[in-house]
Amino acid sequence: MRRRLLGPSLSTSYGEPIHVVRGVGQYLYDAEGNEYLDCVNNVCHVGHCHPKVVRVAQEQIAVLNTNTRYLHENIVQYAEKLTETLPNRLDVCFFVSSGSEANELALRMARAHSGRDGVIVVDGAYHGNTSTMVDISPYKYNGPGGKGPPSFVEAVSMPDTYRGKYRERDNAGYKYAQEISTAATALNDRSHPPGAFFCESVLSCGGQIVLPAGYLTNAYGVVREENAFYVADEVQVGFGRVGTHFWAFETQGVVPDIVTMGKPIGNGHPLGAVVTTREIAESFANGMEYFSTFGGNPVSSAVGLAVLEVLEEEKLQEHALEVGSGLKAGLDSLKGRYEAVGDVRGIGLFLGVELVRDRETLEPDRKLASQVVENMKKEGILLSTDGPLHNVIKIKPPLVFSHSDSTRLVETLDRVLSDLRH
Ligand code: PMP
Repeated sequence: MRRRLLGPSLSTSYGEPIHVVRGVGQYLYDAEGNEYLDCVNNVCHVGHCHPKVVRVAQEQIAVLNTNTRYLHENIVQYAEKLTETLPNRLDVCFFVSSGSEANELALRMARAHSGRDGVIVVDGAYHGNTSTMVDISPYKYNGPGGKGPPSFVEAVSMPDTYRGKYRERDNAGYKYAQEISTAATALNDRSHPPGAFFCESVLSCGGQIVLPAGYLTNAYGVVREENAFYVADEVQVGFGRVGTHFWAFETQGVVPDIVTMGKPIGNGHPLGAVVTTREIAESFANGMEYFSTFGGNPVSSAVGLAVLEVLEEEKLQEHALEVGSGLKAGLDSLKGRYEAVGDVRGIGLFLGVELVRDRETLEPDRKLASQVVENMKKEGILLSTDGPLHNVIKIKPPLVFSHSDSTRLVETLDRVLSDLRH
């Protein structure tokens, strides 16, 4: 039925797709009743079908759901609670229904405020599925079916200290950031002066790459020198996942001009947000109204607020730090035993395991990565691969992921790697 009724550009995960029928916490169940430990769904952030989030949504949808041109307490209470999590100057909210929509809006704002249309992005990045977001997503425009970057876009290298041209000891955070200046010159030469620099605070599609120390502070300096504004895409990594901080950009000690949010923000409910400064919001209000039919409606706002409350009540950020550190140490131990485990990286519950054929040449092992994912699935553990070379196993489970789930993940991965070696 899918093949007959849905567009062929939509794929399914795994060789043999899973027919899921139910989700609870960090577990998914298929139609035959098999249980899977979900290690990749960073959308159902506080757990699949979290009872409080479900109850709040059910209660609100039974009373009222309409657009934001009426007064309603949910949207303002939510905006207040959301801005409390952010640095002071980020205090104006716009609500939308997806990460793509949030990034689109952020780009419009950066362009309105700067009066400049060029965009600098990080190689390998994905920022959304709309025309303009595909235009600024190297993952798409350089991927299958892509047509390369349009003239208003310039990509800088991924600040990757494992595979890239600079290592942490080379002052990588500074050196990679200098490329932004070269990119700005190229855009200026093409009469598209840069108005925005888009950067994920930890690179997801890029292969779970933690930015080198000082990258974002240096980048911010260059971006502002060029009269552009910095958009932090927190669609994958926000809301406490990195453990040490609520927002991943905070790990770099920088304050963005605009922050975009999606995925975990609504625990699966379609919600997105853009938070910016009063100044930028004022420039954007040039007379043309901005309105999103669904964004910030009473149900979405109630859900968003419930997610923030659950994060606090269940101390999930602290939990992500604790469980994530243990998991990373466990994965690191595999590095000692398997030549193929080239790098283990990440922060909190946003981790990556890069598989290689050779530790010296760093030749990627894409085949092994996909075999590991398939074999782990047979063991009831869901993972997937990422990165431009498709050789990074990504781990980003719902934050309720426990210490025993972590032990099970490492032990099973150990067994699967050992079986594949023989
Ligand atoms: N930004 C990033 C970093 C993403 O990973 C995604 C989705 N994978 C998006 C934006 C787009 O979000 P959505 O699919 O909700 O439109």
